[in-house]
Amino acid sequence: MKEKIANLVKLSREVGAHLDYVQGGGGNISVKISNDLMAIKASGYELKNVSEQSGFAFVNHLEINQKISEFRQNENGSDEKFSAAVKSSGTEIAPYPQLRPSMETGFHSLLPFQYVIHSHAVYAAILACCLEGKKIAQEIFSDFLWIDYHNPGWQLTEAIFENLKNSKKPKIIFLQNHGLIVAGDDADELLEFHKQVNQKIQDHLNVSPFKLTDVKIFDLELMKKNVLFPDQIVFGLSEEFAKSQVAQHIFAAYSYIRQSIEKSGLTPIFVSQKNIDFVANMESEKYRKEVAKK
Ligand SMILES: [Zn+2]
Repeated sequence: MKEKIANLVKLSREVGAHLDYVQGGGGNISVKISNDLMAIKASGYELKNVSEQSGFAFVNHLEINQKISEFRQNENGSDEKFSAAVKSSGTEIAPYPQLRPSMETGFHSLLPFQYVIHSHAVYAAILACCLEGKKIAQEIFSDFLWIDYHNPGWQLTEAIFENLKNSKKPKIIFLQNHGLIVAGDDADELLEFHKQVNQKIQDHLNVSPFKLTDVKIFDLELMKKNVLFPDQIVFGLSEEFAKSQVAQHIFAAYSYIRQSIEKSGLTPIFVSQKNIDFVANMESEKYRKEVAKK
């Protein structure tokens, strides 16, 4: 247990230290400690702040997977019901504080690997946010899963559950208009794998590395009209975060992704207004904002 938590902390800090991998409280990492126990980043926390003492929550991932199957079978899943199921699977383990697990706990539970890294890496996002992305991914990677856009939480969990039925154990998953998931059973190898996946995309497209100081930020009104990913809705579009560092980092990531798409002659795809409204009103997203404010 101690060793697995130490690995979770290492992965969180290493990925969290890269602004081109995660911005603000985005992204999450988990480790399956036993047949039923999983530790995952707590909702609203930044990966770089996860420590041996705090920043993660324990859940029973077997219980969560059973609930997902049940909801799918009965076709009665919803964000409210799924959040409640994740909450009730929460396990208190002394001396760790009991925190709310990430809203993406569903797909972490489902993936049959010890370690799962979900990032908002800007390089993977170039592919995830353009029409040609899946085709280009096929040119670079021999094996991956592509998930069309679904709102975070229950809808995304449900989509991944369905897609996993027809695939072998996927080590790379692209989430359209969202980000990247990589999974594996060795923490150090997975960290290196995450880096390589992004490097390969960068090399293939021949785009320069993301540098905060080099990015020319898009016009705010233009960014509001053309949303690329959910965190842009949660932090970038809300007045209360407009001047925060988190929003600046998200605007920089957005601008880099869009400029790279354009430079590569690709076609950007945007999140629909219906989904923007949905994400803006999610309870779990409002909760993340509250934690982030502190
Ligand atoms: Zn995400």
